[in-house]
Amino acid sequence: MLKHLGFFIEIVKGSIITIRHFVVNMFYHILNLFGIKTKRRGAVTRQYPEAPIQLASRHRSLHRLLQRDDGKPRCVVCMLCATVCPSECIYIEAAEESDPEIQKVPSTFIIDLSRCCFCGFCVEACPEDAIRMDTGEVELARYGRGDLVYNLEKLLG
Ligand code: SF4
Ligand code: SF4
Repeated sequence: MLKHLGFFIEIVKGSIITIRHFVVNMFYHILNLFGIKTKRRGAVTRQYPEAPIQLASRHRSLHRLLQRDDGKPRCVVCMLCATVCPSECIYIEAAEESDPEIQKVPSTFIIDLSRCCFCGFCVEACPEDAIRMDTGEVELARYGRGDLVYNLEKLLG
């Protein structure tokens, strides 16, 4: 009997929390309904994924590599992003570039998203603004790890 009493108490505690959230949210919704501005807004249910959510502009989503006007990657293979990456999931190989202003371009640029923690350090470290995480692509679930390995072609889009 005492064992069951413990379960009952937890159910009552959980119900109190649920009712408290319901009443508080209802209170704020009613205030907003009458045009009364409050610091806090009542919770709403997002109908995701049917109704896409507007992401903040600073949100870190899937990476992309930026291109020059002639279509070449802006990346100069300085390796700063690969060096700073805490997950060690960036792999780059360099090729020579005939333009002396550029000198090097990536022949291989791989990001293994199955290891990436989306910290954004690679973007912060890049001196050329060659890599960004602003695609807005967040639905990255895949059936195989191999599908999460993004190469140069995929990153250049
Ligand atoms: S976001 Fe972070 S973990 Fe992912 S590739 Fe960039 S530096 Fe590495
Ligand atoms: S930090 Fe920027 S320029 Fe340097 S290798 Fe990475 S993407 Fe290329």
